[in-house]
Amino acid sequence: MRNILFACFVLLAPNVPAADSGLTRWKISDRSRPLPPVITPATPGTQPSPGKAPSDAVVLFNGADLSKWLDNKGGPARWKVVDGAIVVAPGTGDIHTAQSFGDCQLHVEWAEPDPPHGKDQGRGNSGVYLMSLYELQVLDSYENTTYADGQAGAVYAQTPPLVNACLPPGQWQTYDIVWHGPRFAPDAKLLRPAHITVLQNGVLVQDNTELTGPTDYMKRPPYKPHAEKMPLLLQDHDQPVRFRNIWIREIPD
Ligand code: MG
Repeated sequence: MRNILFACFVLLAPNVPAADSGLTRWKISDRSRPLPPVITPATPGTQPSPGKAPSDAVVLFNGADLSKWLDNKGGPARWKVVDGAIVVAPGTGDIHTAQSFGDCQLHVEWAEPDPPHGKDQGRGNSGVYLMSLYELQVLDSYENTTYADGQAGAVYAQTPPLVNACLPPGQWQTYDIVWHGPRFAPDAKLLRPAHITVLQNGVLVQDNTELTGPTDYMKRPPYKPHAEKMPLLLQDHDQPVRFRNIWIREIPD
């Protein structure tokens, strides 16, 4: 009986192809399979010095100027560059990249004002917005309590970080992000939600976390269809947070 049931299952099972990772196209250890490109990997930063981008990355800020960034009206970004770092100029608005990106690996280094000012959400608040819509929170969460899904490393107002891996204000911190954006069908139906993985200072804080939709204050709005590539955005939350060594590598489809 079990054999009959199994045979029925095999006959009726949909013909689902394996995920196209090449496993079906290449023989095991096939020497004609194309080799991955050779790159020079990134080097880690130290407290005084930024790290170096890998050789195949798009460098969005290398310490010199804001030429890759625009303000929220599409004009030149009005944040400052001081001692090799971008500093939020409070009140000038968010800045975003001129170039658009979809699925990507993103590296950002950031430092909180020292000495710290304010408390809760008012201490060193900024944000890294993937595709201009989905915020990975930047906040001084070192000995500064706020709501769990609003602290540094949180997908804002959705998912707290797995741990609080923050360094003290003034010290350079890193986000290493793997981002897979949402996909929409031509009829606007959501085919796939966005997912994010984040290492903060080398520690896993988001593990392939699914997003419910765009991030917002006290809201979880649903997904709305948008392009597969959108600018990366940094948030002006009225506090002089610093950024440096920002680079991105697009993940091919
Ligand atoms: Mg923020």
